[in-house]
Amino acid sequence: MKLRFHPYTLELRHAFNIANHSRTTTPAMLVEVEHDGVIGYGEAAMPPYLGESQDTAAAFLRLVDLNRFADPFRLEEILPAIDALAPGNTAAKAAVDIALHDWIGKKLGAPWHRIWGLDPAKAPVTSFTIGLDTAEVVRAKTREAAPYKIIKVKLGRDTDHMMIESIRSVTNTPITVDANQGWTDRSEALKKIEWLATQGVVFIEQPMPKEQRDDTAWLRERSPLPLIADESVQRLADVRKAHGVFDGVNLKLMKCTGLREAHQMITLARALDLKVMLGCMTETSCAISAAAQLSPLVDWADLDGALLIKNDPFDGATLVDGKVTLSDRPGIGVVKRP
Ligand code: MG
Repeated sequence: MKLRFHPYTLELRHAFNIANHSRTTTPAMLVEVEHDGVIGYGEAAMPPYLGESQDTAAAFLRLVDLNRFADPFRLEEILPAIDALAPGNTAAKAAVDIALHDWIGKKLGAPWHRIWGLDPAKAPVTSFTIGLDTAEVVRAKTREAAPYKIIKVKLGRDTDHMMIESIRSVTNTPITVDANQGWTDRSEALKKIEWLATQGVVFIEQPMPKEQRDDTAWLRERSPLPLIADESVQRLADVRKAHGVFDGVNLKLMKCTGLREAHQMITLARALDLKVMLGCMTETSCAISAAAQLSPLVDWADLDGALLIKNDPFDGATLVDGKVTLSDRPGIGVVKRP
């Protein structure tokens, strides 16, 4: 089994602003696993605030020796061994996980949604994300989001009312809010959520800093809207801790080391009666299509990452009328663009 990787910089269509930073590119690492004449594709997308970089990913991937494993189908053996090579590095680990899943699906001639026994018609609609911006830009982006059935808006600074009012001046489309840990006072957060509940908002993602667990639990008891964990839930073990503090979890392949663990997290979340959202970073269609394979299992999808970049090297799962649309292509369902 050969593992190849090369750095790739994602160029964003618009500068992306969230509660604590702004950027115009996302560093990524594209990965290939080749064996028996079949190539599986994977990707690590690494927004800088999460701590990984092209250098750390390359250093980690150099530790991965797939020749130690006789059979690429044995994910239960291979992926825990890769996870154990070093702590962290979740995006680099996800890149290998995705490439191996792609390889296996291609070898079997089946897409992963079929291998998992899922009905592609049950894939949810996906939201279109609008970052923190001026009223004028927010209105323009809201018009751009017209085909989508849900708009996701980034809040968490002192412009929250302006952001929502700008969107509402253009459309009545339901909104989901991501505060990205931006609200630190629980009483003020509650007031804000009570107002948002009157504005056609569906749920609130990560209202408070992940360290403020008790405040978040207090908020959840009083909140008229469901609270969804993002920064508070990275890996499988975090799902249990979200129980009683949040109403649901936002899973991302780049946080949780890939498809295998994401599938386990969905199963655990369901057992704990938590809602499940499937999110993404700015990513190429490689990682987005991989995540889309799981989407028939979740309540909400936020898989617009590939739409936010100008230089997508892959063609994969598409969004038709804002709905995640899975193809019969094997593996994670991507082909490389010429
Ligand atoms: Mg989020």
